[in-house]
Amino acid sequence: MRNCTICGKVITLSPSAAERSRKTGKPASYFTALFTYHADCLLIKRKEEASELMSRLRAEALIDKRSRKVLSTSEKSDET
Ligand SMILES: [Zn+2]
Repeated sequence: MRNCTICGKVITLSPSAAERSRKTGKPASYFTALFTYHADCLLIKRKEEASELMSRLRAEALIDKRSRKVLSTSEKSDET
C-alpha cells in the first residue's frame, strides 16, 4: 500500500495491485510503485500549477511593461 504524494491518503488500486500482478505476471510492488498519486489529485495539482504559471506570466508581463516605461522616460530625459 502506498500513500498519495499529493494528498497523503492511501491509494487503493482498482483492480488491486495483487490482481494486476496475477494478470500481468509483474510483481504487485511494480503497480504500487507505478501509482504514486490519485488521478483526481493530479488533476487538481495540474490546475494549480497552470494557474500559478499564469499568474507568474502575468506578473512578469507587468514588470516588463514597467521596465519598458522606465526605459522610455529615461530616453526622453536624455534628449532634453
Ligand atoms: Zn491523493
